[in-house]
Amino acid sequence: MTTQSAPLFTATVLGSPRIGPNRELKRAVEKYWSDKIGRAELDAVAATLRGNTLRQLADAGLDSIPVNTFSYYDHMLDQSVLLGTLPPRVAGVADDLDRFFAAARGGTYDGVDIAPLEMTKWFDTNYHYIVPEIGPDTTFTLNPAKILAELDEATSMGIATRPVIVGPITYLALSKAVDGAGAPIGRLDELVGIYADLLELLADKGVGWVQIDEPVLVTDNVDNAGALAENVYSRLGGLTKRPAIFVATYFGELTDALPALARTPIEAIGVDLVYGGVDALAAVPELAQKTVVAGVVDGRNIWRTDLEVALAKLAPLLGLAGKVVVSTSCSTLHVPYSLEAETELDDALRSWLAFGAEKVAEVVALSKGLSQGREAIAAEVEASNAAVASRKADPRLNNAGVRSRIAEIQSTGASNRGPAADRHAAQQARLNLPPLPTTTIGSYPQTTEIRVARADLRAGRIDATQYEQIMRDEVAAVIKLQEELDIDVLVHGEPERNDMVQYFAEQLEGFFATQNGWVQSYGSRCVRPPVLFGDVFRPKPMTVEWATYAQSLTTKPVKGMLTGPVTILAWSFVRDDQPLADTAAQVALAIRDETVDLEQAGIAIIQVDEPALRELLPLRSKEKQEYLKWSVEAFKLSTAGVRDDTQIHTHLCYSEFGEVIKAIADLDADVTSIEAARSHMEVLDDLNAVGFGNGVGPGVYDIHSPRVPATDEMIMALREALAAVPAERLWVNPDCGLKTRKNDEVIESLRHMVEAAKAVRSEQ
Ligand code: GLN
Ligand code: ZN
Repeated sequence: MTTQSAPLFTATVLGSPRIGPNRELKRAVEKYWSDKIGRAELDAVAATLRGNTLRQLADAGLDSIPVNTFSYYDHMLDQSVLLGTLPPRVAGVADDLDRFFAAARGGTYDGVDIAPLEMTKWFDTNYHYIVPEIGPDTTFTLNPAKILAELDEATSMGIATRPVIVGPITYLALSKAVDGAGAPIGRLDELVGIYADLLELLADKGVGWVQIDEPVLVTDNVDNAGALAENVYSRLGGLTKRPAIFVATYFGELTDALPALARTPIEAIGVDLVYGGVDALAAVPELAQKTVVAGVVDGRNIWRTDLEVALAKLAPLLGLAGKVVVSTSCSTLHVPYSLEAETELDDALRSWLAFGAEKVAEVVALSKGLSQGREAIAAEVEASNAAVASRKADPRLNNAGVRSRIAEIQSTGASNRGPAADRHAAQQARLNLPPLPTTTIGSYPQTTEIRVARADLRAGRIDATQYEQIMRDEVAAVIKLQEELDIDVLVHGEPERNDMVQYFAEQLEGFFATQNGWVQSYGSRCVRPPVLFGDVFRPKPMTVEWATYAQSLTTKPVKGMLTGPVTILAWSFVRDDQPLADTAAQVALAIRDETVDLEQAGIAIIQVDEPALRELLPLRSKEKQEYLKWSVEAFKLSTAGVRDDTQIHTHLCYSEFGEVIKAIADLDADVTSIEAARSHMEVLDDLNAVGFGNGVGPGVYDIHSPRVPATDEMIMALREALAAVPAERLWVNPDCGLKTRKNDEVIESLRHMVEAAKAVRSEQ
């Protein structure tokens, strides 16, 4: 097989959304889980969605169409099924789909409790995959039923497709060693044998091209990425019977893996030309023998492609690649289906955007422009230029007031605050808290009443005043509960917030909310990220009324509760026309304004949550320092406008700080609450090692499970924590917010937590 004999294609996408344009898959899967529909009905919904996707991609003019991009939960988990690596604990579940869901979500099957596999973020996106487990006894076997069925389905529609699979290097690099096994990547040679069998099988089925995804090659997460890639793809490329091989990479730039791949006998290499440059390609003469699949349309953000810019990237490729295919930079899994559902956007805004369907049209236009010349797509280029010009000129993207305020604060030094020790003294004088003060992370259970009220408000069954009254009652109940439990620092419970980012985005200028812009976060969970399109500012206070109302009900301090700038960026679609650092500073200023207003309203403690601090960490080591610098600066800008006697808390949602540990210390919050219950307080030693000396609340119990921990367990955890942190610095709190839990569990757990704190306090 050579590039000359491989079937030609010119325009494609690397994958597409699968949840359904109206989240049909989510609904069907959840009904299946709760036994409201059976397998046949679920399969029918899925088949319709797959069929529609194939048809739409073909009708739009793509000449190579990905298949096997559908999943009932996650494509990495599908890959684990394909390679036969599901762990032994699910093997007893007879039905294949139930076994798959058992691996994804755990549960009780035939009276046996099955723990799910872990889930974690897919690179630096908000998609989460199910982490494969590779133990000493894991064997690899080929189970191609799904991929073959989806191929047949497409063939029966008369659509020639290109199966997509996760590549062996990426698969093993993202797997977790269990039961004392060595690093999974050590099994690479063995695993490649299974891929060879699969390629042979696909060739037998008449498959022309296969797409093998190796995004891990754009990161620094594997040693010797180049050598591994050369090894694996020389072997697969050397097979006598196989489809043409297209190795797709995305989310960043290939370094030494690019020439390495180019030296192997594969036919096509996919490069991300949105998050990586074209220059690197010029240095690889072997590309003259290859098809370069040029990802010039951003697959993971929602901005319309500047066609002039994209054409300028594509033109030089013609001179250095054997063939050039136009593509999205990655799967459009990460963006909503189509702009068509957005009927409330103003014309300007709409003209700046491209969701999944619009991106496909851009790919097709660019491919035509590339082969037939710019004039062939003159109308498209003109529309693109008009959108670019309108976006540049729109006053909402350039607010002189916001920009000069930031410049001024940055030039005079953002901080009004003294050294940590002075702050501690001032806060203690004001708050007079006991040692080991107890608190919670912010949210209380989002009860059925709260959800119903929100749905009623949306449907117009109740008005804003009625809704507000229900939320106030909820706040009052949560305050009363905390007083009964004798918690020291209270929260209002966040009943009025559907989502910790959306809630603020809705109140800030510079954002808009989509009507139907859903994307898959994990499994059946979808999110609707707000779009940060312009200069951000806060027209009026956002949380002050709730906080002061809650504070009016108690003499104990109530924490004001805000979301930090980095997390707001991480969970939104963010403007791409200026550095993230500049956008972060604008969001930070809006949060700072809110902290100052909360302080003025008498709130003594303010928590600024940054659970996503680690999520935005760049994939390449050389970019990490700069990110950590601006993200820490943004947090400080948002929190350093208050007096020394106002206590700043922050909350982070994970325990393996790794590369961000120093940044967490640099945030210099007075109190940091973190997940720790599952990691046995190791994080405290890590914080000590970087010289962190402020207050810290390592979670004493895991809120991700319904289990109610015993008092003694938490006493043990606190004693363990006291080995690393003196009592004056130690706070007592759960791992995270309580919104996903049930009231009964929460009350019991918190009662035990307060008992534990009092017991350990009396030992001091
Ligand atoms: N304050 C938020 C809550 O308690 C924090 C959530 C989070 O850490 N993701 O829900
Ligand atoms: Zn959390």
